[in-house]
Amino acid sequence: MGKVGVLSVQGDFARHRHVFHDLGIETQEVRVPEDLVECDRIVLPGGESTTIGMLMERTGLLTTLKAEIRAGLPAWGTCAGMILLAREVEGGSGPRLDILDVTVRRNAFGRQVHSFESDVEVEGVGTVTAVFIRAPIVTRVGAGVKVLSTVSEGVVAVREGNVLATSFHPELTGDPRVHEWFASL
Ligand code: GLN
Repeated sequence: MGKVGVLSVQGDFARHRHVFHDLGIETQEVRVPEDLVECDRIVLPGGESTTIGMLMERTGLLTTLKAEIRAGLPAWGTCAGMILLAREVEGGSGPRLDILDVTVRRNAFGRQVHSFESDVEVEGVGTVTAVFIRAPIVTRVGAGVKVLSTVSEGVVAVREGNVLATSFHPELTGDPRVHEWFASL
């Protein structure tokens, strides 16, 4: 088995690596295209999607990663990572991978509600505690996209083939089931 690449240009990457480490799964910090060589999947963590996109564009990682994901590399974006994968972002945003056929709205849970927790049902995983931090919501789902989880505000987890995206942060709860599931895809 190859390593799980964790995009490590900005944001919440260290926590993702800890979860995989605790599961006995080797990870690789990904900052430049060469870092992808030994990876058989990639995690795009939370953070600031505009900053991450700009930094990825600068290093050429945006182009390389887009090609790899198109070619079948399993990818999972959490929060800002979901925004980076999305085809469309309401109100626009910077450079993105533009590969998951959904529209997302950034900071969709209201400006004053920066962070909250809620139990959500994720198809294929079960009930998980979801931590939302200035989280996006999916407002449009393309024909090939499967909805995995919905809350009253809208869709918060989707899958399109090899691409998985969650609005929330499973790396922050101490519950490794979503990581385990992604590693087994
Ligand atoms: N609001 C951030 C963005 O738009 C995402 C927040 C997060 O990843 N926790 O990029």
